Amino acid sequence: MQNFDNFISGAFTPPTDGNYIDVYAPSKGEIYARVAKSGTKDVNKAVEAAQKAFPNWSKMPISERSQLLHKLANLILRDLDVLSQMETADTGKPIQAARTIDIPRASANFSFFASAIVNFSTDANIMEGEAINYTRRAPLGIVGCISPWNLPLYLFTWKIAPALAMGNCVIGKPSELTPATAWYLGKLVEEAGFPPGVLSILQGLGNEVGQAIVDHPEIKALSFTGGTHTGQQIASSVSWDFKKLSLELGGKNPFIVFADSDLDTAASMCVKATFSNQGQICLCGSRILVEDTCYELFKAKYLKKVAEIKTGDPTDPQTAFGALISAEHLEKVKGYIDLAKKEGGQIIAGGTPYKVIGLNGYFHAPTVIEGLNQECRVNQEEIFGPVVTLGSFKNEAEAVQLANSTKYGLAASVWTNNVKQAHGLAHQLAFGIVWVNCWMLRDLRTPFGGVKASGLGREGGIDALNFFSEPQNICIKI
Ligand code: NAD
Repeated sequence: MQNFDNFISGAFTPPTDGNYIDVYAPSKGEIYARVAKSGTKDVNKAVEAAQKAFPNWSKMPISERSQLLHKLANLILRDLDVLSQMETADTGKPIQAARTIDIPRASANFSFFASAIVNFSTDANIMEGEAINYTRRAPLGIVGCISPWNLPLYLFTWKIAPALAMGNCVIGKPSELTPATAWYLGKLVEEAGFPPGVLSILQGLGNEVGQAIVDHPEIKALSFTGGTHTGQQIASSVSWDFKKLSLELGGKNPFIVFADSDLDTAASMCVKATFSNQGQICLCGSRILVEDTCYELFKAKYLKKVAEIKTGDPTDPQTAFGALISAEHLEKVKGYIDLAKKEGGQIIAGGTPYKVIGLNGYFHAPTVIEGLNQECRVNQEEIFGPVVTLGSFKNEAEAVQLANSTKYGLAASVWTNNVKQAHGLAHQLAFGIVWVNCWMLRDLRTPFGGVKASGLGREGGIDALNFFSEPQNICIKI
């Protein structure tokens, strides 16, 4: 059986204590590999390797660092097939999604920051006749990057790429549920010719190796994507040693449809927004809010398209909707559907798990619920699965009030053909991202992140390079 070991100092290394955890294939419901159960001793080894690597890596000419990152981006694309197959086996996501979204985006993360770093510049401030100030941005040293299971290589590399580009050494940790593509990345890092110790990839449980990364005094910054509760734990752990912290956390995103919008396009995009990756994307809409004058019409269009979603074996290129990540997550989803019924909701699509012939995995139908108020738990808590609610609003003010009514504030999608209304709404919505007449349209230069319980700080473009560096003001008297 395949073992996913750590990648430390340029080589694959078994965990110091010799322990492993089973890895399940979500579409099959069976163990297919083992992953290193690492801990503090492994973090110490990775930190020692990074300490040796940092002086040369941080001083390497930017053009050379950029070339290495471009090389890694190209190697990821060269191995698109193998990486897509690994991602699908590990997550249960459709192979089409892995091939066209996850793996190309992982490559784009490296090529984007390879280019961004050669174009990166800082400010100069002139005090006329007196002095000139310039800002130097230095790498922080060793940084930790911790990522979740829903978009494994995509989100792992979204953190690692800017950190490396800026000249830091990185200790990365993927989710214990999805170790495969991060493990494979180690091979490509070695092949690309990165110096040993520049990037270490540690595998294992969040409360063991993850916490050891968080607690290590030589790790100067943490970039974390995951659940809000874990983010709170990490924030409280680092409060005493002032580590820099970037937190990308949960969401409960609204998808807001006005009667003047193109309802066919809105309904098609709404299906993607609610059920892509089985609803397991932080950006997925989970509360559909529709203007009451077009509620029934939109509902009919949306439900027709939901019924057409092609479920099935994730390895079949025709499949658009695969398995949930784990048996535990399937139980969580089922629990929220039971709760929705208790809270007075009516299930108008899906509502149950289903079987795929020949597979024993964690499949659950795309589920739509109506008749729930916004205060109930199903509309307030993040489910992170294929469960959405449908509700209505009377006017713009009510749409804003309902949309803003949860503790989260990651992303909102608004559908209207009234430009004035679009701007007005966007300014009132308490979300880090507002998409108008689109969803998950990403420009890697833009600030990415949430407000309220959805996070702290921003990723993407200049924000990421700024996060992974320390600004220093140098003031020279003229
Ligand atoms: P999680 O918080 O359980 O785990 C995320 C990562 O943190 C994993 O690698 C895990 O091993 C590690 N971890 C857990 N406890 C830790 C600790 N004490 N110290 C250090 N590391 C620890 O989240 P998950 O279940 O893997 O992912 C789902 C969540 O991620 C959802 O809430 C979703 O909304 C969120 N998410 C957010 C974004 C975003 O950009 N805002 C993107 C994707 C997913």
